[in-house]
Amino acid sequence: MIKVRQLVKRFGQTTVLDGIDLDIQQGEIIVVIGPSGTGKSTLLRCLNFLEQPDAGTLEIGDLEVDVTRATRQQILAVRRRTAFVFQNYALFANKTALENIAERLVVVDRWPEEKAQVLARKILERVGLADRADAFPVSLSGGQQQRVGIGRAMAAQADVILFDEPTSALDPEWVGEVLSVMKTLAEERQTMLVVTHEMGFARDVADRVIFMDEGRIVEQGPPSQLFESPRDPRTRSFLRKVL
Ligand code: ATP
Ligand code: MG
Repeated sequence: MIKVRQLVKRFGQTTVLDGIDLDIQQGEIIVVIGPSGTGKSTLLRCLNFLEQPDAGTLEIGDLEVDVTRATRQQILAVRRRTAFVFQNYALFANKTALENIAERLVVVDRWPEEKAQVLARKILERVGLADRADAFPVSLSGGQQQRVGIGRAMAAQADVILFDEPTSALDPEWVGEVLSVMKTLAEERQTMLVVTHEMGFARDVADRVIFMDEGRIVEQGPPSQLFESPRDPRTRSFLRKVL
């Protein structure tokens, strides 16, 4: 359903993504792991055109884009089909939880305000925040803010949700509730690509774990295989440090 071919991203002289090939099936839950500075965030950001990639092609459903020749319209189409959950939530501080979720439906998808609010309320319920609809981000806990962040991605009704370390900025006490919302989405077979250090989540929820190092996919497989019998010495060495 999503096909990435030979994706390259450079920052100056440094090649940060060195020809990434990646296929994502509909309903697949993929966790991406790897050392710091390896290009995990850059990969997610390139899939959403938050960064402009330097080479490669991107297929999402019937949409095919040569990233170097992407038109404005194609970029917007890719963004509509890929929703992003940020480490630091990136909520609108001057909007309530409900408005943060409804905003995109109104502004991007041009839904009437009322219809957007109905869906936003349903989503708030699904992320366990029905009673905090009118709260502003500042009055929400980190865990609640991130659940709004996930709610906003759900509202996008995208083909895939890209999570970039969604629990890394959270106090430990809020991590569980965020992972649990993600688990529910996974059970509903929402296609997800998740960069995380939560190896428990990867083990329990992922269909496939991808190990990246120095801008390349080194190794990938079902969590049981990757965690129990990694083939590449770099994977083994990384796992020794984090497991
Ligand atoms: P971490 O686990 O620390 O989040 P990561 O795997 O997500 O790391 P990236 O953030 O994708 O790594 O960064 C990959 C490399 O690209 C790093 O060397 C980083 O310094 C560099 N880089 C990322 N963004 C930029 C930028 N906007 N300008 C210049 N270099 C960048
Ligand atoms: Mg990162």
